[in-house]
Amino acid sequence: MAADLIFEGGTIFGHPGAEALAVRCGRILAVGRVSEVLSLRGSNTQVFPLNGRFLMPGFFDGHVHFMKVGLDRTFFVDLSGAKSLSEALELLRARAEARPGEWVVGRGWDESRWPERRYLERADLDRAVPKQPCCAVRVDGHMMVANTLALARCVRPEGEFVDRERGHLWEEAVTEVLSLIRPERETLVEAVAEASRFAASLGITSVADMPSPQDLPAYQVAERRGLLRTRIFAYLPVELLPHLAALGIQRGYGSALFRICGVKAFADGSIGAKTAALLEPYRGELGRGRVLLGRGELARLWRKAMEAGLQMAIHAIGDRAIEEVLAAARLAGVGFYDRHRIEHLELPTPAQLSRMKDVGLVASMQPNFLQWSGPGKMYEERLGPARDSRIDPHRWVLDQGIPLAFGSDGMPLGPLYGIGLALNPPHPVQRVTVEEALNAYTKGSAYASFAEDELGDLSPGKWADLVVLSADPTKTPWEKIQVEATFLAGEMVFSR
Ligand SMILES: [Zn+2]
Repeated sequence: MAADLIFEGGTIFGHPGAEALAVRCGRILAVGRVSEVLSLRGSNTQVFPLNGRFLMPGFFDGHVHFMKVGLDRTFFVDLSGAKSLSEALELLRARAEARPGEWVVGRGWDESRWPERRYLERADLDRAVPKQPCCAVRVDGHMMVANTLALARCVRPEGEFVDRERGHLWEEAVTEVLSLIRPERETLVEAVAEASRFAASLGITSVADMPSPQDLPAYQVAERRGLLRTRIFAYLPVELLPHLAALGIQRGYGSALFRICGVKAFADGSIGAKTAALLEPYRGELGRGRVLLGRGELARLWRKAMEAGLQMAIHAIGDRAIEEVLAAARLAGVGFYDRHRIEHLELPTPAQLSRMKDVGLVASMQPNFLQWSGPGKMYEERLGPARDSRIDPHRWVLDQGIPLAFGSDGMPLGPLYGIGLALNPPHPVQRVTVEEALNAYTKGSAYASFAEDELGDLSPGKWADLVVLSADPTKTPWEKIQVEATFLAGEMVFSR
């Protein structure tokens, strides 16, 4: 049987000595020496010369909000590049003028990068966008600032999640306001297509996605039109658990490219918004953040998810939230082989990691979050140097033998950036090797979504989801590495 496509003349990741790989019907047919693999060439076989480059499995981003990635590029005002508070306001003002009468929704602002060093406030937005509702979500997604017109749509009373004077909303209040702003179906389909194109350009072929249920029809339409060129492993909001259970939808339900894995719950918020639940207070403050779901309620949901045949993915960042998750795992009777996930796992104690190993929980971590760690950076400012020095402890996780999945949470999307930080972290004791980082961003994330039988390495029989890097990163400085081509099931979806 002839191959459809043969890569030859480069390094094949995970196969020392091999220099070629053959693909047939979208799957890997053979890996080996050039002469062996070229013997599979037929009259219709395409040959892709690697010219000494590096072939590896497509990156599997272990935690993204795929629709948001697309909408950020097509619908929302992207504030992540704003270098100052006034630049962010200028971007919002420009959009308001371009689309009068419409909602203006900014995303991704990060005051820790601004000279002003303060949050946006209602009065700022009222000045920039006085005549239409305008709001802007902070980079972590847990906090929002709204102008007076947008705030008028928020029905929640003043209190824990709402500060009307400053125009600040947190957590559920953010979700509620965002739920008022639903783009049209076609805008959503376009966003899926754009996210997929963008992911391919970064070498990403699979993602663990945290979509909102209203997004699902747009994924279906995009897949039917051939616009979805990324494998989606979806974790739906835990609020949907009763419905999924009633319908009997189990892990693995879906189509060729879109699959439901489980549900996602929040144990706490984020460090940036000071809502991550800490054992000790934030630096210079009394507050310790908040636990959104405590052990009792988490355990109840967890049991329900297991009964329904669904995987649990629990967002837990602070050490106090991680404690609640570990306690909940014990209460729910989670077994070593059940393979549930903790998302982010930013500030675990060494003792917590050892207990995590014992219950077989997967660490779904984002090495790009290290951009906020180190002297003078936001994590150190919020937590102090001692706690900052043990943030995002990839080395400890690997040394414990905890399965590690790498992802980006879209801050920003792009494995090359995140891996660069994991290889060269602000606190060098947490350094990982290139092989470990590549594995966490491929095999590790595949394992975390029960996809390791089909994806994650270059064994024959697995999907030919592949990426060509410009050079062998085990021999070349990481900063020099580029994504040159991306393949999904043996079809090119990106070429530089
Ligand atoms: Zn997330």
